Parts: sequence; C-alpha cells; structure tokens
Amino acid sequence: MNELLVARGVRKSFGKVEVLKGIDLTVHAGQVVCLLGPSGSGKSTFLRCVNHLERLDAGEIWVDGHLVGYRRSGGRKYEMRPREVADQRRDIGMVFQRFNLFPHRTALENVMEAPTYVLGRPREAVRQEALDLLRRVGLEERAGHRPGQLSGGQQQRVAIARALAMKPKLMLFDEPTSALDPELVGEVLDVMKDLAAAGMTMVVVTHEIGFAREVADHVVFMDDGLVVEAGPAAELIARPRHERTRAFLAKVL
Ligand code: ADP
Ligand code: MG
Repeated sequence: MNELLVARGVRKSFGKVEVLKGIDLTVHAGQVVCLLGPSGSGKSTFLRCVNHLERLDAGEIWVDGHLVGYRRSGGRKYEMRPREVADQRRDIGMVFQRFNLFPHRTALENVMEAPTYVLGRPREAVRQEALDLLRRVGLEERAGHRPGQLSGGQQQRVAIARALAMKPKLMLFDEPTSALDPELVGEVLDVMKDLAAAGMTMVVVTHEIGFAREVADHVVFMDDGLVVEAGPAAELIARPRHERTRAFLAKVL
C-alpha cells in the first residue's frame, strides 16, 4: 500500500518545553487514522508540523513521497521558500475546531475562494464543482447563505467543502466537532464518514471515540509528546495496553 504520510522522529520545542519528543507515524493512502490523547499532549502541534505551519526541530515528514518544508539539491537539504511551502500545502486540506470561514462571503463563495484566487481556475467550472461539494455535504440549498446565517454544524460542513475544493490528497481534522453543540456533532461526523468511505486519506484528532471505533483504521494514542500506543481502532479501544490510554478512555467514553 502507498504510504501517503510518513513522520519519523518528529521533535518540536517551544522555548525550553519539548512538546513533541520523537513522533513516528505512517498513514497509507485511503486510511483513516484517529489521534487521541489528553489536552496538551501535542496533537495539534503535530498536525501543524504536517502542514509546515510549524518548523520541526528534528525528524522528517513526507507527504505523498515529498519531504515537507524542504527540498534536496546536491545531497543537501534546503528549507523551502514561503511560495514553495504554499504550493506544497495545496495537497493537504485542514479543518479546525473553529471554522474560520470568511464572514462576508456566502457558503458558495467560501468554497470557490481558493480554487479561483489561488489556482486561478475559470470561474464557472469552479462554481459547478463548489455546488457539487456543497451538495456532498448536504448544503446545496444554503449556497447563498453567509456563515452568520448558518448553524455551527453547517459552517463546519462548509469548511470541509472548502478544504475539499483544492482536491487535497490528505485531510487533517483538528477536533472538528469540539466547538459544536452536541446535537450538531452527528451531521459533521456523517460528512466525515462519507468522505472516509469515498477513500479520502484522513488524520483526525478527536475525542469522539464512537467515530474512531467505527471509522478509523488505526488509532494512535498520544500523551506528553509521545505515541504511547497505536493499533487497529477496535482493538486498541476495546483493549488498551497502557495505563495512560486506559485512564484517558475511561474519561471520554
Ligand atoms: P493538544 O492539541 O494535544 O491539546 P497542543 O499541540 O496544542 O496539544 O499543545 C501541546 C503543548 O504545546 C501545550 O503545552 C501547549 O501549551 C504548547 N504549545 C502549543 N503551541 C505553542 C506555541 N505556539 N507556543 C508555546 N507553546 C505552545
Ligand atoms: Mg489541540
């Protein structure tokens, strides 16, 4: 199977605090991997490293065979320029806890924004694709609404459609349902389930253990900047080996 995301020995400190202490992780194409772990364990920092929003102190990350943030030339490694990083980032879609939609643009305009202005693609083709994406997340009839006129769950579904508009190879989700009222969580998880079923490669930071059990191929449990254990989702959740995993699951289940 094709390795779409490979992280080896990823370390990251903020000042004197080492937040990632050597993370190894492999995600194959089409897999869904859920990252679990207590607050402060480094999950968001790791996702930000994958997207090169943070610079690694040590280790390497590859996405689809490309070294993230660096290019090699004559046997040496050079840090990419911002423009090259931006190009590389197009392969990666990211969905955050907060939706960060443009407030003065409609749902449709939000989804059209990047393909139109970043890729400079023809407007009508982009519009059709954006409408298809809004249909896919169940919001075609809300295309003309602004974020303020949509519920949190609807806004998050627009944010997912917006990320998909760049046709990413990999989707990163950082607690996509944590800011939502409980009754709106299901509609967002359903969209993510459909995406997984359609073969999208996904790394999902979540406390939704039901989702992890049902949808994830693998679960990775992080604590204090390290991978404590990793394994097939159902097995790891049913029979965690480490005390720290057990304690965490007891709290969120
Ligand atoms: P998680 O997502 O698992 O809750 P984070 O990756 O957000 O964990 O944070 C891990 C640790 O790194 C926390 O102690 C947090 O305070 C710290 N941290 C994260 N980002 C920064 C930053 N930009 N500057 C300083 N400390 C940070
Ligand atoms: Mg986080």
